Amino acid sequence: MALTNCKQCGRLFNRTMKDICPECVKQDDEDFMKVGQYLRANRGASPQEVHEETEVALEKIFRFIREGRLIAEKYPAMTFPCERCGLPIQSGRFCRSCSDELKQQFDRVMHQDSEQSGSASSRSREEFYLKKRFERK
Ligand SMILES: [Zn+2]
Ligand SMILES: [Zn+2]
Repeated sequence: MALTNCKQCGRLFNRTMKDICPECVKQDDEDFMKVGQYLRANRGASPQEVHEETEVALEKIFRFIREGRLIAEKYPAMTFPCERCGLPIQSGRFCRSCSDELKQQFDRVMHQDSEQSGSASSRSREEFYLKKRFERK
């Protein structure tokens, strides 16, 4: 038996499948039910309203969404902040423009990697960047 601290309340418990204690799992389930029930009756509710009406912490509501437990897209006002810029979104972790930007950054890195093979074009581009960097100073 392995004792561990609950990630949520800090209580010691016998570690099972999850890293939160049975009490917190129960509490989570109850909160999730409350949120679900409230949303079924008030489809246009925002997370803030749900939080006020059900007394479930806003962070927990967002966590339910992030975990995919609560399908925010079914409810027009259920949004949560983009992890990068804070814009309200309904699924994933980032808003559209952030995920586009992150994808571009990722593509660029991948592209740079594939050009490491040392073709003539990549060399002249490198010189171009160096020149630009010096000009900026
Ligand atoms: Zn706990
Ligand atoms: Zn964003």
